[in-house]
Amino acid sequence: MYDLIIIGGGAAGLFAAACAGQFPGGKGLKGLILEGGREPGQKLLLTGAGQCNLTHGGSIREFPAHYGKNGGKIRSALYSFSNEALCRFLESAGLETVEREDGKVYPASFSARAVRDFLVSRAEENGFEIRCGLKVRELIPEGDGFRIRTEKEEFSAEKVLVCTGGCSYPATGSDGSLFPLLEELGLEVTPPKPALVPVNVENYPYSELSGASVLGVRIAAEEGAAEGDLLFTHRAFSGPAVLHISRYVKPGRKIVLNYCPAMSREEAREKLKAVRQGSEGAGGAKQETFTVFRNIFAPMGLPEALLRVFFETEKIDPHRRFSESSGAESERILDRIFRDSFTVSGTAGFSQAMVTCGGVALPETAPKTFESKRIPGLYFAGEVLDVDGDTGGYNLQFAFSSARAAMKDICGKKQTEGRQSE
Ligand SMILES: Cc1cc2nc3c(=O)[nH]c(=O)nc-3n(C[C@H](O)[C@H](O)[C@H](O)COP(=O)(O)OP(=O)(O)OC[C@H]3O[C@@H](n4cnc5c(N)ncnc54)[C@H](O)[C@@H]3O)c2cc1C
Repeated sequence: MYDLIIIGGGAAGLFAAACAGQFPGGKGLKGLILEGGREPGQKLLLTGAGQCNLTHGGSIREFPAHYGKNGGKIRSALYSFSNEALCRFLESAGLETVEREDGKVYPASFSARAVRDFLVSRAEENGFEIRCGLKVRELIPEGDGFRIRTEKEEFSAEKVLVCTGGCSYPATGSDGSLFPLLEELGLEVTPPKPALVPVNVENYPYSELSGASVLGVRIAAEEGAAEGDLLFTHRAFSGPAVLHISRYVKPGRKIVLNYCPAMSREEAREKLKAVRQGSEGAGGAKQETFTVFRNIFAPMGLPEALLRVFFETEKIDPHRRFSESSGAESERILDRIFRDSFTVSGTAGFSQAMVTCGGVALPETAPKTFESKRIPGLYFAGEVLDVDGDTGGYNLQFAFSSARAAMKDICGKKQTEGRQSE
């Protein structure tokens, strides 16, 4: 009989075990991590392109706004173990951190492996066994504890902390396999869907631009908007702005891209008007139409290749003198620059989603501890909960903060029980 079994040895599960030693009740805890994959923290190793964007700089008060509609509900966990507290925890163990100019915080070694290895060794120092290749298939509340069945073995524990993540990047082991078991226990699970994921649209016209990006694009969906860099892939829109908006998109609904939010459409019209009225020569209306647009929009960061696609797809002759082109044609190009509108056909799916939107509904859990309200002794942390953050370190911060909140409560109860039995 273990005091605690953590199901899932990813970012949250490892962190929970690694921070147990901070609490009096965590010392001497008989703990086990059951990890379904061949090694712990496989997704952690991929984070930040192998560099591990641990968290974000700035005030923790700014964090809740980065988790969509559920941000307000996790404030307590974030404030109790903030970005600064995380850095202090890691630095006290010799793992220095650095903040980049864009606010992203990394280990100074820029090595996700160093973070994973540190968490594993700290978990083991705290007395946790880590068993890999054991996928949990059954979770049964029994008496004052739980029985857990894997394909090969059976375990029992007084308390269980579920850290099985979401469904994204299933090759890392986070395949959503625990959600049906949780539903069988009567827990409400918000249907998981891919988030921070490239967005597919009908009649995507930018395949030939694959690999090109546009800085500072504004994207609006019906339920939200985002501003940031955009990346064209062969089949979809990607890049930070698209990943952020992906939690709001739905097939059949519109998204609208403004590639030049730093200029208003009215300003652009004025500039075009000045050219049309201008004399021959540099800036004059005798220039090719394409040149006129390029001179106005390339300095604003609009890639020439994208502008070319606008001309091609709008079937407007780029070489015609601007004086001979019509105002309606200019408006069509402006439409593409300021209101490029598409119908969403879907997303690139869980195989390319950085996180999962959905999971164990937050009202199922106590807000400060993430203990199940229906099944005492059963806790949750990380992406298995219905929380998904923006890119920039917010998802790992939540995994760490929620894991610590759950562990603090588990250790506190253990200590109280210990005192009572003395
Ligand atoms: C490519 C990529 C890059 C990312 N980069 C960043 C970044 O730089 N910064 C950031 O903040 N976030 C990043 N994220 C998101 C971040 O990695 C996750 O939000 C975070 O790992 C969630 O932690 P978790 O412990 O909840 O889940 P996971 O890390 O997914 O761990 C869950 C674990 O549970 C195990 N498991 C699942 N089911 C079972 C079962 N039935 N039995 C036993 N074990 C099971 C899995 O094998 C897995 O090891 C990135 C995600 C991806 C995919």
